Amino acid sequence: MKNILKVLAVIIAAIMIVVIVKTMNNKPVNNQKEVVLEAIPQNALEHMSAAIKIKTETPNDDYQFDTATFMSYRKFLENSYPLIHKNLPRTIIDSFNYIYEWKGSDTSILPMVLMAHYDVVPVEQSAVKLWHAAPYGGEIKENYIWGRGVLDDKSSMISILEAAEAQLAKGFQPKQTILLCFGADEESSGKGATAMVKYFASQNKKFDLVVDEGGEISTENNKSVKAPIASIGVGEKGYVTLVLTAQKAGGHSSIPASHTAIDILSTAIAKVSENPMPTKLTPPIEAYLKSVSAYNENFIDKMVLSNLWLFKSNVINKMAEEPTSNALIRTTLVPTVFNSGVRDNVIPTFATAYINSRILPGETTKDVYDYVTKIVNDTNIKITYYKNYMTEASPTTNVESKYYKRVEKIIRSVVKDVVVAPMLMVGATDSRNYRTLSEGVVNFTPLTNAKGYHGIDERMQISDFQKCVNFYTLLIKGE
Ligand SMILES: [Zn+2]
Repeated sequence: MKNILKVLAVIIAAIMIVVIVKTMNNKPVNNQKEVVLEAIPQNALEHMSAAIKIKTETPNDDYQFDTATFMSYRKFLENSYPLIHKNLPRTIIDSFNYIYEWKGSDTSILPMVLMAHYDVVPVEQSAVKLWHAAPYGGEIKENYIWGRGVLDDKSSMISILEAAEAQLAKGFQPKQTILLCFGADEESSGKGATAMVKYFASQNKKFDLVVDEGGEISTENNKSVKAPIASIGVGEKGYVTLVLTAQKAGGHSSIPASHTAIDILSTAIAKVSENPMPTKLTPPIEAYLKSVSAYNENFIDKMVLSNLWLFKSNVINKMAEEPTSNALIRTTLVPTVFNSGVRDNVIPTFATAYINSRILPGETTKDVYDYVTKIVNDTNIKITYYKNYMTEASPTTNVESKYYKRVEKIIRSVVKDVVVAPMLMVGATDSRNYRTLSEGVVNFTPLTNAKGYHGIDERMQISDFQKCVNFYTLLIKGE
């Protein structure tokens, strides 16, 4: 007995030593060198302001563009960036999507793609009075540039153009061919990006690094981490909606049967809500925890996160408690529509509900269908896909790849003492289409705590504009 206790004590001591050593060795990446940013080009602010004034609202459901407005945006581009239009051949795809090709000196290297979109979501008329600037005024005040689209995504587009125009003015020629790809309908159907990728595929093009909007910098709500966190999007969740229909003979509500269509469907929905899909730590999220944990200033948290080999289930359980972190560790299921009944004294024959799901990489729309069918386990419920609109989760970019490492290095040159970590995107962007042509798709723009996306007071800090132009300049220069 005594010997068993002794052995146990030795094992526990050994585990404790491993845990402590792993925690101590989990050190932040040293990033103490000064960050010196180049000033933004003259006129850059005027250009951004002019871009916002042109109301490039995304096409409506019938895919109608406001042609005059989109043409005037094209004129604005041609007038503001003369060197780009003189030196980089432009291909127009489906009326308003543009590809500019900047030939590199070494064509043996695959091209890099810098992407952005310039359509914007419409401004809600009833909310205009809540804005602190005219939504399409392009006003510059209080160290911000204000207006619809300034973040999403004219910040990227104008910054890419400013960076390219400035380098052309210096007579710079890149080693690697660079394609500047600008979409006109990301906020609606995203058909432009699909068409551009189809065009590239027809020419058997393959790409090196592809950079699109998505990940950003956050200095808020980072528990126990004081340093800014830059999240690089490395993959996107999938999307599907299931329709659950219960059918049961209805009738007069004065003589109800024991189980109505509403009862059956409610039970099914309750089962789905009580049985979420299993949790899973995917490689990007595991890498995120690893990157961020080194900067954690709470010793216990740091110890737990530095030793996932021992504490993985504790970490997953903790993450499952918060909606934002829960969405990163499982395929989510949530009822979004529930329909039944027409009158207070009529038992309805049908009841219908929609369950929307966002799917983790590694799982599929079919897995979601099978899982819900198994959990509901009721032949009275018919389950179908909603409108056949679904997307599978994207492949993810490896965080050890040269693509990720290159963007990480550039972020460190633009933001001092920054934590760089990968992130899974829960929404969709144009760049998902490019994953068939590149293993190096990443989503990142150096905006900090950006607010107002699709809502009121959309605005960008002037200092972020400077970071963005510097970020794209370094990419163009091949750093
Ligand atoms: Zn966007």
